[in-house]
Parts: sequence; C-alpha cells; structure tokens
Amino acid sequence: MTDASLTDEFDQQHIWHPYAKMPAQQAPIKVQRTQGSLITLANGQVLIDGMSSWWAAIHGYNHPKIMQAMHQQIEIMPHIMFGGLTHQPAIELCKRLVALTPDGLNKVFLSDSGSVAMEVAIKMALQYWMSKKKPEKNRLVSLRHAYHGDTFATMAVCDPDNGMHHLFSSILAPHFFVKAPNLHNHNDDIEELENILKKHRQEIAALTLEPIVQGAGGMRFYRADYLRQAKALCEKYEVLLIADEIATGFGRTGKLFACEWAQITPDILCVGKALTGGNITLAATLCTDEISTTISQGTPGLLMHGPTFMGNPLACATAVASIDLLLASDWQTHVQNIENTLKTMLLPLNDLAGVKEARVLGAIGVVELKRSDLAPLVQAEAIKQGIWLRPFGRLVYVMPAFNIPKEQLNKLLDGMAKAIKNILNANL
Ligand SMILES: *Cc1c(COP(=O)(O)O)cnc(C)c1O
Repeated sequence: MTDASLTDEFDQQHIWHPYAKMPAQQAPIKVQRTQGSLITLANGQVLIDGMSSWWAAIHGYNHPKIMQAMHQQIEIMPHIMFGGLTHQPAIELCKRLVALTPDGLNKVFLSDSGSVAMEVAIKMALQYWMSKKKPEKNRLVSLRHAYHGDTFATMAVCDPDNGMHHLFSSILAPHFFVKAPNLHNHNDDIEELENILKKHRQEIAALTLEPIVQGAGGMRFYRADYLRQAKALCEKYEVLLIADEIATGFGRTGKLFACEWAQITPDILCVGKALTGGNITLAATLCTDEISTTISQGTPGLLMHGPTFMGNPLACATAVASIDLLLASDWQTHVQNIENTLKTMLLPLNDLAGVKEARVLGAIGVVELKRSDLAPLVQAEAIKQGIWLRPFGRLVYVMPAFNIPKEQLNKLLDGMAKAIKNILNANL
C-alpha cells in the first residue's frame, strides 16, 4: 500500500485534476493522510495546511466529532433516494439552515455541489417570474470578478474576462455585467448597477453576487454598504437578489453569513463548501416563502429539479455535526485571532516591490503579486517551507482552519512570507 514516491505516473497520464492539462504539466503531489491542520505527503513530509481544501475544512481534517457522526450514519443508512422519502439527518440539517441563515429564508433545496446549488438558485428565479406571468424577465445581472461555478448556467454569470466566456460564448446565456465593487471605500461603483437595473428591469430576473468577498474571481473584499445599496436597488426595480455564500458561509468572514455585514436577507441564498466542514460534498439553496409560494402556485407548480443524490443522509449527518461543532466553539474569537495574526504577519508584505497588495478579512489572507508567472514558483517554495498553498493567477492566499493551533498558524504565515520574499528576491 505504501508508495513513498511523491507523484504517480498513472495519475499523471490518466486522471484529470481541476483546470489541468492531460497529461498534467506539473504532477499532483500524493497525499497519504490528514489530521487537524496537517497534511502528510506520500514521502512522509508533513505540511501545514493553508487552504482548508478551498474554504471547506473549517475544523481541520478528521475532527473526531465529525468522524463519529459519519461512522454512525454509515452504519444506519449511507443513502436513500429523496423522492417521496425523507429522513432525520435532512430534517435536522434544514432546521439548522433555516434558523441560522438571515431571517425569512425558510425553504431549503439540498444538492450535491456549489455549482448545482447556484443552478437551482437561477432556476428558482426564472420559475418565479414565469409563475408571475413575466417570462420575459429571464436575464441575470452579475458583477465583474464574480465566480459562481463551472456548469453552463453558472459560467454565464462568472467574470466575462477571466472566466470562460470567450471559449463558450456561442452557447452561454447572455447576461449583464456591471463594474465589480471597489476594493476600497469609494462609492462610485453602484451607479452602473442602478443604470442597468433601471434600463433593463423588464428583462432582468435577478442580481447574483457573492456578498462581501468575491472569491475565485479575484479574492476581493468589498464594503457592506455596497451590499445594502444593491439590495435596496433590487427592491426598487423588482429584481430578485441571489446571494452566493458558498465561499463565505459558516464564519469565514467573521460573521456566520456575509449577508449579516449588511443585515440583509436575499431572496435566494446558496451554501456549500464549509457546509460539511469539508468532509463530503453537499450544498443547499434557500429561498423565502414568497419565492416558494409563487413557484408552487404557478405552472407547472413544481420546482423542476431533483438530483439523484439529493439530501444524501451521510452528507446531511456530516453537515449537522459540523454546524453543531462550529456553534459549540468560540469561532468568532478564533476567526478574530486569526484575522489579527494575518494582519500582523501579511500586511507588512505591502512594502515589497513585487507585491501589488496584501489584504485581510476574517480568516482570509491575500497577497496579490504584480506578476502571475511567479505564483507557481511560490507554491513550490512554500512546500520547501513546510506549508501547503495553492496560488492562482497573481494571488497567493491562505484560509486556515478556524481551530488551527497558534504555533502552526505562525509557522504557516512565516513560511508564506518567506516563500513570497524568496521568490520575489530571486526574480525581480
Ligand atoms: C466554489 C464556489 C462555487 C462552486 O462550488 P462547487 O462546489 O465547486 O461547484 C460557487 N460559488 C462560489 C462563490 C464558490 O466559491
């Protein structure tokens, strides 16, 4: 079983990885096991994890409480179809989601991944307007730098320049795009949104956005006031608001949900990623009673979606355990402490010539380089420093588990700063 080599020839030749060439240009590194915030590689080297497996593993890996819940559920019922049947794990999970998300989001649709949760959100918005006898309201407004997933409906609301629009332009739905919210406190970004909504309100079903943090489209943080104003404009022009909290949900920004920064309730809200603490795939789309009632009173009167693995009991039980663990912990203090440490250790990198900007929000630390070709070098250097980072584009970033031990957090950030400095020194 144990193969001490760090890469695998079969993998490289036969298995696709995210956004990768075949065969892989850079062979993926083989992982043997995980524990807490530590990743053990096939050769025995141990890395401190800076990625939480893309926002998800908020409690670190293999948390005993979650492992126990998963074992228990596997013994009872790993899966059962959701058509015509229900079960306690789904009920317990949806009770928690309704209670924890902003007031008014009372109805839950369970699905298997973030992209699908967004597909369902878009479908809800379109079916809502069809049911209102306004089928012409079938276009969306999205923000530049947005990321909402990799499926066809979601690609169509991803950033038109750094997304995949040019590749698939002939079959992507044409939507409206407005200026991304500013990184800093200038409020000249909302005007374009108002103009589009005013001009095209008859054609627009919904505004989609990632509240407070634009994730994979640029790791950009923006002010609560933008979100508040966007919500008010949606109401003024009778357009629904879809909040994509797949990255921000479950505490990452310092609030349980990023919508809380602006104290708004969107019409539709998506969660995923950290929902199960990163242990198994699951996502959910929540909506208000107004949306569900309208869809149910329209034609055909059913929400037209139903994944095979909808409401998977194992995933639901895992999510319940993860949420209970989060709420039982002093997560606000943990995230606040991580934020303080990130600020202390990363903001000084703003002084480096090769750094465009270092920025921090909650348990997210971003160092935006001036050159994108250096990011892969930073990744390789990070491994030498004993840490796991996965930069993309010009962005080197960390999003540690909320319960990462202080000493590991310091080592992680120290290693990150060193990796960046070493690569900049060698290449500038
Ligand atoms: C990751 C992500 C998605 C897509 O989720 P998948 O589970 O990868 O399909 C959608 N929106 C946001 C904001 C995300 O971060």
